[in-house]
Amino acid sequence: TCPGDLREKLGASGSMWPSEPIILGPEGSARQLVLRKIQELSAEGHQDPFMVLDLDVLVGRHQAFLQALPQVQPFYAVKCNSRPWVLRVLAALGAGFDCASQGELEQVLGLGVAPSRIIFANPCKAVSHIQYAARFGVQLMTFDSEEELAKVAQHHPGARLVLRIQIQNSQSTFPLNDKFGARLEACGHLLQAARELGLAVVGASFHVGSDCQTPQSYRQAIADCHGVFEMGRRAGHHMSLLDLGGGFPGTEGSKAKFEEMARVINAARAQYFPEGTGVEVIAEPGRFYMESVCTTAVNIIAKKAALESGGHKKLAYYLNEGYYGAFRIFLREPVPRIPIVAKEFPSEPRLLPCTLYGPTCDAFDRLFSKEVQLPELDVGDWLIFPDTGAYTSSMTSTFNGFPSITIYDAMGPQLRSQLETAP
Ligand code: PLP
Repeated sequence: TCPGDLREKLGASGSMWPSEPIILGPEGSARQLVLRKIQELSAEGHQDPFMVLDLDVLVGRHQAFLQALPQVQPFYAVKCNSRPWVLRVLAALGAGFDCASQGELEQVLGLGVAPSRIIFANPCKAVSHIQYAARFGVQLMTFDSEEELAKVAQHHPGARLVLRIQIQNSQSTFPLNDKFGARLEACGHLLQAARELGLAVVGASFHVGSDCQTPQSYRQAIADCHGVFEMGRRAGHHMSLLDLGGGFPGTEGSKAKFEEMARVINAARAQYFPEGTGVEVIAEPGRFYMESVCTTAVNIIAKKAALESGGHKKLAYYLNEGYYGAFRIFLREPVPRIPIVAKEFPSEPRLLPCTLYGPTCDAFDRLFSKEVQLPELDVGDWLIFPDTGAYTSSMTSTFNGFPSITIYDAMGPQLRSQLETAP
């Protein structure tokens, strides 16, 4: 079932095998690379925005995940950042993959990843995508409705289904509850309906919402899944897979919260799914893996100053990357990010309220709904946004004719040579 022809096709179009990464020197960091690129571009009179993606940081995130949750197998959520090098590194590290569509399945299978290392974790799938999964042997897939069961019974009767449940009382920056998840009261009926259609339900999943703020949400959801396992067994299913979804925060600053989540998960697992019961636990982290992997540099392409009543000065900076580019997610974040100003000042500069706009002609194209405090800057100055690896480049458009941001993949020489020998 390994789609070798597909690999060839994708390789030929250039979209699958990534161009060579920049190799960082022994003391080189991605941050230094960003500063060097800014200097180089400025010297050549160029101001285009760019992003540096540090694959060594990605390796560190994978290790941190495995260390905190040693009994959980990560299936990286491709939607978070589907850059070819990201997938290639994670495939070499032995991670699994959570795919949301045929396009993502093609990308991951095209890397030679075995279909058994993939979960098609979109509870509402297009029929043609289900057929594609069946054709290439991707069996694990989520559902949360009777209508989805009917589609799967017709087009992929050999699927191993995972029932996605709704979450109770989770607080997260990006909730997913309204759109997905079966209510607990409906699960018994869904499990019975699957049985009557001759479909195998093998487990339960949930998603506490992206950038979860409440570690205890995992505990409640794992307890709920335990109940669903009982219902599934009563309906005659062999329940053996618990899928914790994503939701883990991604920045260095959220380390303590992640560790607290890991403690809660490990304890809940020991209580509800103790070792020896033969239950495999997986998760679908996206943000946790990618957020800190990328750093983005943008340029001020236009500026306006205004005097408020009372003589207070306000500024508007127009950047060459915005809502319709890599920064779509920013507007949905509750607290504006403060960029690093790549400029030297003779003394501590006065901070002024600034509105940050993107480059398109749409008034909606702004980075944050609130002002941020920044010094007075000039057209041509650079701003640096760290922690821009999650849901950024994967959400870009070319609206108004602005091209997608240039991305420089970077890694140290050791990782590069390890990848040479990876299977
Ligand atoms: N799994 C599913 C089904 C999702 O929808 C998402 C994000 O939307 C993820 C995993 C990744 O979530 P996160 O980036 O919060 O880890």
